[in-house]
Amino acid sequence: MYPLDEKENWFSGKGHWSKTLDEDWFNWKWQMRNRLTKKEHFERFIQLTEHEIQGFDIAQSKLSVAVTPYFFNLIDPNNPNCPIRKQLLPSGLESVISRVEKKDPVGEENTMPVPGIVHRYPDRVLFLVTDRCASYCRYCTRSRLVSNAQKYGFHPSIEAGFKYIEENKSIRDVLISGGDPLILSDDKIEYILNRLSSIPHVEFVRIGSRVPVFLPQRLTDQLLKIFSKQENLWMSIHINHPLECTKELYDACRKIVAHGIPLGNQAVLLRGINDNTQTIKSLIHRLMMMKVKPYYLYQCDLIEGSGHLRTDPSVGLKIIEELRGFTSGYAIPQFVIDAPGGGGKIPINPNYIIKSDENGLVLKNYEGKIFNYPTNSDLITTKPLFLP
Ligand code: SF4
Repeated sequence: MYPLDEKENWFSGKGHWSKTLDEDWFNWKWQMRNRLTKKEHFERFIQLTEHEIQGFDIAQSKLSVAVTPYFFNLIDPNNPNCPIRKQLLPSGLESVISRVEKKDPVGEENTMPVPGIVHRYPDRVLFLVTDRCASYCRYCTRSRLVSNAQKYGFHPSIEAGFKYIEENKSIRDVLISGGDPLILSDDKIEYILNRLSSIPHVEFVRIGSRVPVFLPQRLTDQLLKIFSKQENLWMSIHINHPLECTKELYDACRKIVAHGIPLGNQAVLLRGINDNTQTIKSLIHRLMMMKVKPYYLYQCDLIEGSGHLRTDPSVGLKIIEELRGFTSGYAIPQFVIDAPGGGGKIPINPNYIIKSDENGLVLKNYEGKIFNYPTNSDLITTKPLFLP
């Protein structure tokens, strides 16, 4: 397990790029232009393992490699098991594909009425607006299309997406995702948000993004101004490990919230990265300090070549059981499995109901103590409640 100290300073700074001018370092376009994408870029700073060297060959046809300089600084160069490194550097183990793994593990292709719109639930849609991200996560559920390494050729028609949403009046909630929508230009983001908010039956819009985590420099005053003009915009971000919670991310989250956007976090449970209670507890406490509600803890989807990063679902259940009662209820995320084939997200909970019958419930609390909760039929009255 990676050593964690709750009291360690939140990392911040230019690290390997100490000589870079501030005007470059804090410019999100400079960060994007200077991403580490090739094996040689990484070899300048860290000694790659055999698995990682093999991984770079596989990545070309599976999912591109890219890491912003800002996020690369979070990697411990002396630890091949660094939890940041394992999320972003490819591995030869990605070539091991089990028969239960799929290119499209949660069946999005079957529920795509127009390219880019995934309509699985009755009242909401997922709107994929790009296939590019600031950095690429090796366990990405949408590896089939993200980065185009698999030659998917994702060309969503944004206008066709708007038309679909306009014509389907049951859609009251739109989640804009990709790829990562926040790598689009300010103008494009504003256009998408304005178009969606002009649709009368769309009650609220959410953005799903890992940009605040990989590229906090993107949260410019101009972008925040665009956000603040939206009537009902929410944002889900994706932080998996407390070491991602830097001073820069802290500032970015506080600014987003100050501009009226509620934030939630969707973490993915990953083997050898965050698959223990101590790490998740440290993460959710930091999230709360950043004004980010820990929303979901995902079981890693059955994406091809991700077996080395996936845990058994019992691990997530144990973590939730070890959190419930031992930290604030508000800080505890819902553990979910996105059902293979397109069944949607299913909440998975530890079992606190020992027995349920006509007499009521027998419940177990967080300490393992047993309590009875009687049904109404057990209640008696000694006098009439209402006099005629
Ligand atoms: S940021 Fe999201 S969409 Fe992009 S690679 Fe990571 S998980 Fe996939």
